[in-house]
Amino acid sequence: MDQSRCDVLAFSAHPDDADLFCGATLAAWARGGLRVCLVDLSAGELATNGSVEERRSESLAAAAALGVDSPREVLGLPDGGIDHRDAAQLQRVVRTLRTAAPTVVVAPWREDRHPDHRECSELVRAAFFWSGVSRYDQDASVARRPRNLIYYPCHSEAPVTHHVDVEGTIDRWEAAVDCYATQVERGGARRPTHLNRTEFREGLRARRRRWGETAGVKWAEAFVIEGGLALDPRSLVSAVDRIGSEERGDSR
Ligand SMILES: [Zn+2]
Repeated sequence: MDQSRCDVLAFSAHPDDADLFCGATLAAWARGGLRVCLVDLSAGELATNGSVEERRSESLAAAAALGVDSPREVLGLPDGGIDHRDAAQLQRVVRTLRTAAPTVVVAPWREDRHPDHRECSELVRAAFFWSGVSRYDQDASVARRPRNLIYYPCHSEAPVTHHVDVEGTIDRWEAAVDCYATQVERGGARRPTHLNRTEFREGLRARRRRWGETAGVKWAEAFVIEGGLALDPRSLVSAVDRIGSEERGDSR
């Protein structure tokens, strides 16, 4: 990881998760001037389609499409073998967190059909805690805990607590998804998978519309934030006022 600190550090189990499942928010943060860093726990070597090299070049292209220009790191944990009870894996993620020193950490939600997404979630959750414990790995890294850990839903439904208006960056998200041809497109020698059905991408788009409808905007992404999130009073009013202003013109 680049030594300069990150504002946001987003973890993926495989080199596409954060992009596919919360990419428009990542793009919005980057556009807003925040330093967004991406870490892929595995290189995605178990993928049905696409080599490790192809997946790496696709993930770099996707990050660029999102406007994320900090280095994208691959930790090299085993695809299919991410394990939050593995002490070496935990230490690896703790060191990544301490070095990057983000304000906010983003990880997959822990309930998901893919075991690696579940394990990635629990591994980052555990590392988030241990990163702040001074005697953990004290010979190699200095304790520092990020301010918050938030989760993005992947394949499965999640108990969403917050929505983010992504109308301004939904096009960047679409462009990023386009970069993952080996994963989300059929054709040639590619074998059919859950991800490369047309319904998968339609579903990703549809739930952004549904979350938008819930939140009173056109497009939204959704997150799970445990333990609540305190807004400063001014930003609460400005968020509500911006969304409500269109509706006040229509008295029906
Ligand atoms: Zn994945």
